Amino acid sequence: MFGSCNMDLVAYVGTAPKRGETVLGREFRTAPGGKGANQAVAAARAGAEALMIGAVGEDELGGGLREALRGFGVDTRGLRTVPGNSGTAHIVVDDDGGNAIVVVPGANATVDSLAPGDAELIASSGALLLQLEIPFAGVESAAAAGRSAGVPVILTPAPAAELSAELLANVDVLVPNEHEAAVLTGRDDPDAALRELVERVPEAIITLGAEGALYGNAAGEVVRSPAHRVRAVDTTAAGDTFVGVFAAARARGAEVREALAAASAASALAVGRHGAMSSMPTEQEIREFRG
Ligand code: ADP
Repeated sequence: MFGSCNMDLVAYVGTAPKRGETVLGREFRTAPGGKGANQAVAAARAGAEALMIGAVGEDELGGGLREALRGFGVDTRGLRTVPGNSGTAHIVVDDDGGNAIVVVPGANATVDSLAPGDAELIASSGALLLQLEIPFAGVESAAAAGRSAGVPVILTPAPAAELSAELLANVDVLVPNEHEAAVLTGRDDPDAALRELVERVPEAIITLGAEGALYGNAAGEVVRSPAHRVRAVDTTAAGDTFVGVFAAARARGAEVREALAAASAASALAVGRHGAMSSMPTEQEIREFRG
């Protein structure tokens, strides 16, 4: 994984404060996150050897992020510590479940190129997972390194953005959700969006929340992967779980349908539990859930 690490700082309040107002919160929690780190943990929990390339700050949160990733079984050799603050997400959750979020990229903003040794780490991987929470230049250079080493490059285009032709030329699998697919193609209909995406990249998967996922490739094959019927209590990181587990399965040599089924089971388990990394299932839990 090459991407972002954030510490989520979450305050739970009855009613969120308006400008100039101070309110007393009920509870405070911290939780490690960031799409890059989430995808690394999802893959590691699902049994893959996951390695994280990115940056944390030299603050206390950076140490906490590194420890958390190690605790979830992620190799942090590629995680550098840079001057300044770690990436943070400042989240206020009110009693209605509504939220307001400020993301400060911090150390993630420094990941705009490959550091010495990164190209070798990428070349020794079975798949390279990328997202858009670091500077575009960083994503582009990692994708180019993956392509030149013959490593499959899997990009989650989130937060939603248009992508340069230069980047797309080095992507093997693009995995947007419905909203991101619409931003990329200008089409709200997932089938129409999928047709456009596989003209630009060899394979694409559009995730559709409780409706499952839609896979397509440049050869014209389409696979509809249904979601499991579960009671969703927290959909945070559903997409990251899906991608991390899909990539872990493909890197092991699984066929597309098998990788989609594993990803769908893992993300169904994750939405049934609270939290991001802590909601991600282990390999054994995925196997038992699939029966
Ligand atoms: P993102 O979190 O990126 O917006 P989605 O909401 O599309 O991504 O969810 C990713 C995957 O997680 C879906 O393809 C599906 O397999 C699973 N998923 C998400 N929400 C649910 C749900 N309510 N019930 C079952 N599975 C879900």
